[in-house]
Amino acid sequence: MSETHSGTLIIGAGHAGGTVAALLRQYGYEAPIAMVGEEPLAPYQRPPLSKAWLKGEADADSLALRPDSFYAEANIDLVLGVRATTIHRAAKTADLSGGRTLPYETLIIATGARARTLPIPGADLRGVLTLRSAADAEALKALLGPGKRLAVIGGGYIGLEATASALALGGSAVVLEREPRILARVSCEALSTFFTDYHRARGVAFEVNAMVESLEGAGGHVTGVRLAGGRTIACDVALIGVGAPPNEEIARDAGLECAGGIVVDEHARTADPAIFAIGDVTKRPLALYQRSFRLESVANALEQARQAACAITGRPAPAQEVTWNWSDQYDLKYQFAGMPFDVDDVLVRGDMAAAKFAVFHLKGDLIQAVEAVNAPAEFMMGKRLIGERRPISRERLADTTISMKEVAA
Ligand code: FAD
Ligand code: NAP
Repeated sequence: MSETHSGTLIIGAGHAGGTVAALLRQYGYEAPIAMVGEEPLAPYQRPPLSKAWLKGEADADSLALRPDSFYAEANIDLVLGVRATTIHRAAKTADLSGGRTLPYETLIIATGARARTLPIPGADLRGVLTLRSAADAEALKALLGPGKRLAVIGGGYIGLEATASALALGGSAVVLEREPRILARVSCEALSTFFTDYHRARGVAFEVNAMVESLEGAGGHVTGVRLAGGRTIACDVALIGVGAPPNEEIARDAGLECAGGIVVDEHARTADPAIFAIGDVTKRPLALYQRSFRLESVANALEQARQAACAITGRPAPAQEVTWNWSDQYDLKYQFAGMPFDVDDVLVRGDMAAAKFAVFHLKGDLIQAVEAVNAPAEFMMGKRLIGERRPISRERLADTTISMKEVAA
């Protein structure tokens, strides 16, 4: 039976959903807001789950986006532990697991992404895990520690961050990557080599071009990863970090366009004027590169939450941001901005051997992207120059005796 709720309904109580709910109130939206989340927790941050939290350096409270009391104070109806199953666009309602139906004037889909699993024998053994939620992180943490060997399948962010955390907890790790190099999808070759060497120097083993065939176990618990060719890599825990497909099915079933993400415009609006989509689940335009992307980052979740909140409350659209992200591994702060499209040259500023440098991806005298390691000034100024489309001198950019401020001037 339908309830009296109207106003805005948000499906997905993650980083994007939690942010848009708070922004709507901040921007003076007075109609009811309901937010439905499948997980039992109020919106929380995922980045620490593979980093500080996994290492035991952050407590559960510090994960929360806002204190639990915020939602009642802001009159946001949090419906947790419940899944939205169907959207009825003509009736402007959504069905929830458990039988409730909620009406909406405006719907925001913020269902994020899920960890990809591998349909291979042994994937159901105990000790074979993925990492997306706080519950996943809890399960992983319980299996790491001194003497424990972690096998990571997939040399992406999840895998490399969990590897660094496993070592910090006294264990060892091996990374199994299908491509010829780790981070192949997101970083340039120089960065892949740098991160491989940095991990290797701390005892991490790497297997690239690794085709994982199955997981082996004893007594129902994983003991190794079997590769094509017959070799088995021994482990106590196996973490599958092979990407995160979007939770777009609920939108597709409702007839909204999906193309590896729910298709939205620069205001986070779908083709249905009453429905917005934000965060990891979307495929969004990036004017700077005249292409559409599915971005999987906190910065994107925050930006699209702002776009939707502005559109719903009649505020001017916020300026488009330069896409950016970060990863922490050991004592490395890796920050990157922009997209390396149409690049004709790559320039390194700083000292790779000292783990303090930035790689600039250039198109003529324009910076398209920057990848910085322990180099915050290069990251910040690089990001600004990408957004402003301001030409630079390559000679001055390569010269570390000239500050980034002077390079920009
Ligand atoms: P999510 O945070 O995934 O939230 C979506 C929520 O919707 C989930 O709680 C899900 O259960 C719920 N949901 C899905 N379907 C339904 C439904 N039908 N009904 C009800 N609820 C539903 N990004 C960075 O920028 N930097 C980092 O360092 C970084 N580290 C990360 C580390 C880890 C371990 C992980 C997993 C991610 C990391 N990310 C990082 C990515 C970042 O967390 C995501 O980009 C961000 O969480 C996206 O927010 P979202 O709200 O779109 O999706
Ligand atoms: P990811 O960044 O897509 O990396 C997955 C890696 O696994 C890729 O290198 C991929 O190679 C490889 N791979 C895929 N299938 C494989 C297989 N069968 N065997 C071996 N390797 C395989 O995804 P992720 O690291 O799992 O991260 C999941 C999500 O969490 C993403 O949304 C990510 O952005 C987010 N996250 C972000 C951060 C951060 O921003 N710092 C940290 C943690 C998590 P291909 O390129 O060939 O597919």
